Parts: sequence; C-alpha cells; structure tokens
Amino acid sequence: MASVRGARRLPLAEFLVGPKRHALGPDELIAAVHVPATTGPQGFAKVGPRNAMAIAVVSFALSLDPEGGTVGAAIGSAGPTALQVPEAASFLAGVLEDRALWQSRAPLRDEERRRFAELVVEVSRPIDDRRGTAAYRRHALGVLAARVLGWAWDEYRRSR
Ligand SMILES: Cc1cc2nc3c(=O)[nH]c(=O)nc-3n(C[C@H](O)[C@H](O)[C@H](O)COP(=O)(O)OP(=O)(O)OC[C@H]3O[C@@H](n4cnc5c(N)ncnc54)[C@H](O)[C@@H]3O)c2cc1C
Repeated sequence: MASVRGARRLPLAEFLVGPKRHALGPDELIAAVHVPATTGPQGFAKVGPRNAMAIAVVSFALSLDPEGGTVGAAIGSAGPTALQVPEAASFLAGVLEDRALWQSRAPLRDEERRRFAELVVEVSRPIDDRRGTAAYRRHALGVLAARVLGWAWDEYRRSR
C-alpha cells in the first residue's frame, strides 16, 4: 500500500477487516499484491447463479506445495471476510506427510477428503442473505472443498 507518507505491506488476512471493509487508509493505493509462488497444483471453485459475472454464493480455494510440504486453503463468501482454514490445511499436510503421499502419489482416501471438508466447514461463519442461506452455504462449501481437493490431488498425481 502506497501513499505520500510511504509504503507498507500487510498480510491479506489483516487487510480484510470485515464485510466491504479493508485496512487501506483514505490516502493509500494498492501498489502491488505479492503472491508466493507454489510448486504444485491449485484449485478454485465457486457456487454462483451462473459461471461468469456472477457474485459468489460461496467459494473455496486450495493450493498444494509439494516442495514445502504445505497446503493453503481459504473460503470466500461464507464469513465476514475471506477466511483461511489452517486446521484443515494442517490436517491435509499431515496426511500427505504421514502416508508419504507426496512421494507415492497414491489416491487420497474418501474419509480423508471428508474430514478435510468437515474441518473447512467448521471454520466458516456464513449468514443468511439474499445470495443464499447459511445452511446451504455450509453444505455447498463441504462439497466444494472435497471436490477441489480431489481435482488438485488428481492433477498432482498426473503430473508425475
Ligand atoms: C456482480 C459481480 C459479479 C462477479 N462475478 C464474478 C465471476 O464471474 N467470477 C469470480 O470469480 N468472481 C466474481 N465476482 C467476485 C466474487 O463474487 C467476489 O470476489 C467474492 O464473492 C468475494 O468474496 P469475499 O468472501 O471476499 O466477500 P463476499 O462474497 O462479499 O462475502 C462476504 C460475506 O459476508 C457475509 N456477511 C455480511 N455481514 C456479515 C456478518 N456480520 N457476519 C458474517 N458474515 C457476514 C455476507 O453474507 C457475504 O457472504 C463478482 C462480483 C460481483 C459483485
């Protein structure tokens, strides 16, 4: 963020402070967005009335980093800001490490995908609004999380 007063950087989680609110000062502009490059597949899915030019009812993003052995995951439109899901990410990173899946590229078990999705949903804080109900968003988020994980892991397995 830049202004005549100088430049500063904030992690995205601190930049997003609430619905339609951010940490940008009245005299500041966003000068750059720094995104760490990861070495593995990434996935994003959203539920909306149609594919393009439709505000999200709920969304989910996942990033796998085989080199660092880490997982990044976040949800959108199901809380006052976009939310990271550290418990789900560490659960998945733990499964991948404990079963040496980064090396073997063996399939994930259904119960592992299900548990990952449950942990994602637990962090969400959706409300009922004109886009959808909280109950629908929780359900759809679980479906998206399990689905995006399946897509990303399949892509990793194919990239051998
Ligand atoms: C017209 C339009 C078209 C778009 N088209 C596309 C597209 O085609 N593709 C695409 O990828 N993106 C599209 N977008 C952008 C995408 O929808 C947004 O980037 C995304 O929804 C942002 O997610 P968010 O979680 O940051 O914010 P939001 O989606 O705004 O989510 C904030 C959430 O906060 C909730 N909320 C409000 N108050 C509270 C509270 N007190 N407590 C808890 N929750 C609260 C609201 O229910 C809302 O769901 C579009 C946006 C618009 C407006």
